Amino acid sequence: MKPIVCKFGGSSLADGTNILKVCEILKSDPNRKYAVVSAPGKRYSGDTKVTDLLYQCFREATEKGDCSETFAKIRKRFTSIVEELDMSGFHIAEILDETEKQIDEQRSADFTASRGEYLNARVIAAKLGWKFVDAKDIIFFDGSGALDEKRTYAEIAKHLDGCDGAVIPGFYGTGSDGKIKTFSRGGSDISGSIVARAVNAELYENWTDVSGFLTCDPRIVNSPEKIEVISFKELRELSYMGANVLHADSIFPVRKGDIPIKIKNTFRPQDPGTLILPSKQYVLQGNIVTGIAGKKDFTVIFLEKSMMNAEIGFARKVLSVLEAHKICFEHMPSGIDTLSLVIESKYLTEGVLDVLLKEIDEAVHPDYIRVLENIALVATVGHGMASNIGTSAKLFRALSEADINVRMIDQGSSELNIIVGIDNDDYEKCVRAVYHAFFGKKSK
Ligand code: ADP
Ligand code: ASP
Ligand code: MG
Repeated sequence: MKPIVCKFGGSSLADGTNILKVCEILKSDPNRKYAVVSAPGKRYSGDTKVTDLLYQCFREATEKGDCSETFAKIRKRFTSIVEELDMSGFHIAEILDETEKQIDEQRSADFTASRGEYLNARVIAAKLGWKFVDAKDIIFFDGSGALDEKRTYAEIAKHLDGCDGAVIPGFYGTGSDGKIKTFSRGGSDISGSIVARAVNAELYENWTDVSGFLTCDPRIVNSPEKIEVISFKELRELSYMGANVLHADSIFPVRKGDIPIKIKNTFRPQDPGTLILPSKQYVLQGNIVTGIAGKKDFTVIFLEKSMMNAEIGFARKVLSVLEAHKICFEHMPSGIDTLSLVIESKYLTEGVLDVLLKEIDEAVHPDYIRVLENIALVATVGHGMASNIGTSAKLFRALSEADINVRMIDQGSSELNIIVGIDNDDYEKCVRAVYHAFFGKKSK
């Protein structure tokens, strides 16, 4: 039987009571052999995630030379978890002392941040009586920061072969310099996917605090409909555009092995969850739109030049300016004489935008350059959109009825999505309007 790899997010592991639920889930199916775990998340709204406390420790250690006050909060959290789990023989105090010392010695943001996963995995492995396999020994990055697949998969096989229960900390591995390196935030989802691919899992179960992937962010629309089945492509679009129930990069390892993902709720394990299928296994579900997601804080640089389309190399010259500054762009909608670049505002720190505008002006001499700031993008995603006439009419009617000014439109060439750019202030209103247009009658 192929194993099931389970990843448990911080929201599932916030305290001892939750960790007991997780242990029960793992023990309830003998195929659930490998658990990838996050650091403890928030216990209540307003609480601080352990990973955030650790980043704070790093800042304090570098700025003030001491992080003992914040580390005391982390110590308290793990000590009470171990107490709640009734693990009196487990020497958490010694492990915490050692960790505090290493944080002080290493002075590395990645090392410090990774300790939440490390400590939690040590505790959970001991509680389950399973092997603790440190991610530093099995997940490796190459010199460019990408996953070193060959080495990683070989080491995972070596460490997990013949092992009937292992707990692995998510979120980090070893960089090409031999030091601990983390993925971006929420990266334990990627670790779980890597382990699933390495052991050729039957299924990658991602356990969180919602009963599946929802058709839109539950913090914006009250109780949105749940998605039962979704394709990898749709998932990638939605998670990239902000549906952060799964890290946007977590599909790549499992996709290569055609391994399905299931999103499950730790607090309602009986709920069926959402099944995420590789394209080969996915059949159209009969719905037009599968889901809606979005993100705030983009900047649009709009260029206009007569006969732009006849000017060979125009787009290349514009993009070369971005490349020289190592800036990614998200979208590049274009017309006959116009071209827009949509860029995440976080890349355009103090002065960078002015430099870009000057260099673009020098490179292509546009007739006109305009900048739109504080733009949000909302993506409406679904395989069904390509075959249903009137989808965009329905979408734009809903936006117009909600009095939302559309500043940019981009329809992916796959016809899998329509992305609109609107003012940041209209973001929530826009998500609600699109949701009600496509799911309104069915929603509660
Ligand atoms: P974990 O701690 O398990 O990794 P995350 O906080 O990363 O959990 O992801 C789960 C959260 O994602 C949910 O609690 C929910 O608020 C949020 N979320 C945003 N968009 C969606 C969506 N489309 N479907 C489900 N949850 C979503
Ligand atoms: N603990 C890390 C974070 O908060 C990684 C994760 O939870 O996936 O981002
Ligand atoms: Mg997460």
